Amino acid sequence: MADKGKLARYHRRRDFSKTAEPEGGSGGRSAGGPPSYVVQIHDARSMHFDFRLEADGVLKSFAVPKGPSKDPQDKRFATPTEDHPLAYRDFEGVIPQGEYGGGTVIVWDEGTYRNATSDRDGHEVPLAEALHQGHASFRLDGRKLHGGYALTRIRSAGEGEREAWLLVKEADEQAAPAGTPDPRRARSARTGRTLGQVAAAARSGGERG
Ligand code: MN
Repeated sequence: MADKGKLARYHRRRDFSKTAEPEGGSGGRSAGGPPSYVVQIHDARSMHFDFRLEADGVLKSFAVPKGPSKDPQDKRFATPTEDHPLAYRDFEGVIPQGEYGGGTVIVWDEGTYRNATSDRDGHEVPLAEALHQGHASFRLDGRKLHGGYALTRIRSAGEGEREAWLLVKEADEQAAPAGTPDPRRARSARTGRTLGQVAAAARSGGERG
């Protein structure tokens, strides 16, 4: 169980008697091996992608309205959101309307990553520390996304302003001119389903959440 402190905001925002989102836990995977990442598509009040990297026993999370792009020319705006439990990488389903984040979620992409952030002496900076400092670079090895990406803070939280970051593909052999597919047509890396199909399954009572 990740420590409660890191997930306090996550817990405060949710009523687990109403949402099927996980309260905590690792999702049953053993520790060791490369850390994981997940990209979910979340059809909430506004459509967005949720980009989450495993670090320090939680998923460090960013909402990315247009989603990650494979094109290094695309600078995708990203906003940090609260740390999520590791088990969230398995969540696909419907958050009830009226609850925090109400709407449908699919696992669009998942995989592992390798931290590639180093300080000016060339020493690796742990990912959570790198994010704290405002710049992290990492290589994704996923079902859909591959190669180097960087997250860079472009604005600190200020009076009434949230932190702003950019998620950008690095120019490497995995870069491609294609952007991100239309979220309404995109399919789950887990189940092949679209947002609409997951929502319909939930309506028909075919699945919890
Ligand atoms: Mn979201």
